[in-house]
Amino acid sequence: MNNTPITADKFNDMLKRIDQIVSQQIIPLEPLLLSQQWDALSVKLDAIRSTVKAQGLWAPNLPTDLGGMDLSTTQLAQIAEVSGQSPLGHYCFGCQAPDAGNTELLHLYANDFIKTNFLLPLSLGETRSCFAMTEPHTAGSNPTLLDTTAEWVDGHWVINGRKWFTTAADGAAFTIVMAVTDPEAHRHQRASMIIVPLDNPGYRNLRNISVMGHAGAGYFSHSEVEFVDCKVPANHLIGERGQGFKMAQQRLGPGRIQHCMRWIGIAKRCFDIMCNHVKHRKITPTSTLADQAVIQTKIAESFAAMNASRALVMETAQIVDSQGFEAAKHHISMIKFEAANMLQLVVDNALQTMGALGMTDDSIVSFFYREERAARIYDGPDEVHKISLAKSLLRQF
Ligand SMILES: Cc1cc2nc3c(=O)[nH]c(=O)nc-3n(C[C@H](O)[C@H](O)[C@H](O)COP(=O)(O)OP(=O)(O)OC[C@H]3O[C@@H](n4cnc5c(N)ncnc54)[C@H](O)[C@@H]3O)c2cc1C
Repeated sequence: MNNTPITADKFNDMLKRIDQIVSQQIIPLEPLLLSQQWDALSVKLDAIRSTVKAQGLWAPNLPTDLGGMDLSTTQLAQIAEVSGQSPLGHYCFGCQAPDAGNTELLHLYANDFIKTNFLLPLSLGETRSCFAMTEPHTAGSNPTLLDTTAEWVDGHWVINGRKWFTTAADGAAFTIVMAVTDPEAHRHQRASMIIVPLDNPGYRNLRNISVMGHAGAGYFSHSEVEFVDCKVPANHLIGERGQGFKMAQQRLGPGRIQHCMRWIGIAKRCFDIMCNHVKHRKITPTSTLADQAVIQTKIAESFAAMNASRALVMETAQIVDSQGFEAAKHHISMIKFEAANMLQLVVDNALQTMGALGMTDDSIVSFFYREERAARIYDGPDEVHKISLAKSLLRQF
């Protein structure tokens, strides 16, 4: 942590400036996202990133030695909510998944070679990265089953296997791949994390997977990828051999809190869109949807759910700040499924009250509905987090 923490006034000013950039510069670009004009979008996003850097708002999640701000988890959570109101927000501020988690991981565990050649350009936003753990043929909910291998041959790692849902692999400079290096070891010590530059001849991007009707492109895509006798030097290993699962857990903790707060930002955006819509949508010559009790119920339940989630996530962030991630482990499981389900409720309420308009790509609500159904699945499905929380609670009885 920084020795001179940012003052409350300075932090509030920062939040305000982030909110302004989101509403005045980022949200107006969403039609390019909704109409899938990737190249035009990417040029405009780069311009906003330059503004963000010039204003000293880049990479709020990173420590100062990597150009970030050394903020507390509680502060980061608030930034994640404000910048998360647009699907383009985290990307513009340099704190987007999966790069954020990868950067934090490499900062903690990488050797000097990796830090110079991969971490530095990534933290400056000059490159993108991805994280290849989940496989089509093994259950991602129990990654100890994964069977991609990395064999140690003549001083190199030789990787073979297939991964999917490698988010943002299209156009990324490198991936962090999780592979079995020690098949005979304890199941939590079988895997390691290894960097693979994506111009390696043994790596192939097989396809951008079509998700809910859209294959996306570039940062907004999820790929199926293959490693065939993919050879990388010894210095591409991250941290210690066999420590892949330990590092994955450490990577996911902060990531889950940032996702949850981003989801609250999305819910808030959909809530505002819903309220504006129902106030103006006439259903008789003298009344609007907002006058209907059944609509008012949706507004009240959405507002309550959103605020309850925010309170839980902030409580979790405070535990992390005061006692560390290990102490907040069960809270993180709790907010992961709680906030994801809150998100489904609020987005669905917004879509329903908008009628046919909610189904169109004229509104960002349909994008959130389509893309964020996955919130209940990625970074651990609801069931897995509920089981883990329940087991810890039951131990006390
Ligand atoms: C949009 C998106 C982006 C993603 N990005 C990445 C990425 O960048 N890198 C990466 O490596 N992976 C990524 N993933 C993969 C994600 O982490 C996995 O989908 C997740 O871990 C679940 O694994 P699975 O899909 O294999 O489901 P499975 O493990 O096959 O589980 C299927 C379903 O079974 C249920 N279930 C699972 N376990 C239990 C249990 N113990 N008890 C009861 N029910 C259970 C759950 O409902 C679960 O959804 C992404 C996924 C999505 C959808």
